Amino acid sequence: MTSEYTAGVSELPQERRLVTEIPGPRSRELQQRRVGAVPPGVGSTLPVYVTDAGGGVLVDVDGNSLIDFGSGIAVTNVGNANPRVAGRVREQAGRFTHTCFMVTPYESYVAVCEALNRLTPGDHDKRSILVNSGAEAVENAVKIARYATGRPAVVVFDHGYHGRTLLTMTLTAKNMPYKHRFGPYAPEVYRMPLAYPYRWPTGPDNCGPEAAAQAIDQITKQIGADNVAAVVIEPIAGEGGFIEPAPGFLPALAEFCRANGILLVADEVQTGFARTGDLFACEHEGVVPDLVTTAKGIAGGLPLAAVTGRADIMDKVHPGGLGGTYGGNPLACEAALAVLAEIEEGKLVERARRIGEIMLPRLRDLAARHPQIGDVRGRGAMIAIELVRPGTKDPDPDLTARIVRHCHQSGLLVLTAGTYGNVLRFLPPLVIPEHLLNEGLDILTEALEATTQS
Ligand SMILES: *Cc1c(COP(=O)(O)O)cnc(C)c1O
Repeated sequence: MTSEYTAGVSELPQERRLVTEIPGPRSRELQQRRVGAVPPGVGSTLPVYVTDAGGGVLVDVDGNSLIDFGSGIAVTNVGNANPRVAGRVREQAGRFTHTCFMVTPYESYVAVCEALNRLTPGDHDKRSILVNSGAEAVENAVKIARYATGRPAVVVFDHGYHGRTLLTMTLTAKNMPYKHRFGPYAPEVYRMPLAYPYRWPTGPDNCGPEAAAQAIDQITKQIGADNVAAVVIEPIAGEGGFIEPAPGFLPALAEFCRANGILLVADEVQTGFARTGDLFACEHEGVVPDLVTTAKGIAGGLPLAAVTGRADIMDKVHPGGLGGTYGGNPLACEAALAVLAEIEEGKLVERARRIGEIMLPRLRDLAARHPQIGDVRGRGAMIAIELVRPGTKDPDPDLTARIVRHCHQSGLLVLTAGTYGNVLRFLPPLVIPEHLLNEGLDILTEALEATTQS
């Protein structure tokens, strides 16, 4: 008998249970109501209306219990309604809910910043600011980088996703649905090729060095390194399709940035907080960014985000130049402190790795039997398959949509991603019980069999 601490235990039965079709009648009723109240511009992947969630399941208004391979887009890494998170939030809500840190501060904001300064890559002196969303964090990182360097240009990459505000949608690569008709966009944003191993013309082995050389050459010739404030990159492209840049790409960029006074901003909004089997994805190749943006997994579902960076850069901005009414809200800060304790005591970095060790072999096995799976990739609990027409690399978004529909109707929530809409991505909560992880993979197997038979 071991008494090892298990994070994110939920009182909900950890089972898939279907008692109606998906979505069920009560969800469909709510969907009707919603159509009259919420515009279609805000979509929902699967319109089952949730009443409870925890561990590896989501329970809906019809009483169905679905396996969660989404974590609210990589947010509930420690489990939904994680008891420690919920307890600290409840306690804080009874004491005070808001003062505005810019008016009268409180300890938890400082404690979250101290933790981020300690835990993010690199052991140099750091500072952090807290904001509300990933997009807001990226915006602030660019503001700080421009201030600190006195330079205008920002470099981003193909397949990048950084948010939906004016600046961050400009930084984002994909037109539909993120940018279409929302322009004109922000100036001084330049896009470079990404080291996408599966689609690199000369093959995956050459991809890292070649893509880095191309990006550096384009930055030098088209912008001029002296004009660049920041290179902003996701260490694994999230919305772009879980693209792990080929080995060597990130270190080469980091070196180029260092040599040219350009600040390297790692957007770890989706990859952060144990998701990839490291606390932060940059650690995988030992890259130490100048600034790091975090959000999603930081606070177990409460809205919180951060910019953490070198103290000499962060301390430059004039007093009052950074902030916001709600940034570092006390409920969200308590949640973040609970999340960090859960990651450590629940050994969630190891659990993320274990999830990858279970998923990757099963998915590779599936790929060996289904030529529609062109690529299996990812690290830890951030795993994806890319679907193509057999014998080619032509994206197959229709097949992807059919697989997703089959999974959803069978009670497995999965998400898509990718510039071509042909990537199935898996982001289970790191606390998901192994039997549910395997059951989810069984459903995916059935879905592939059902949708690829002609
Ligand atoms: C989700 C995401 C963002 C935007 O975060 P929001 O909280 O939705 O504003 C930015 N960068 C990356 C890498 C993301 O995955």
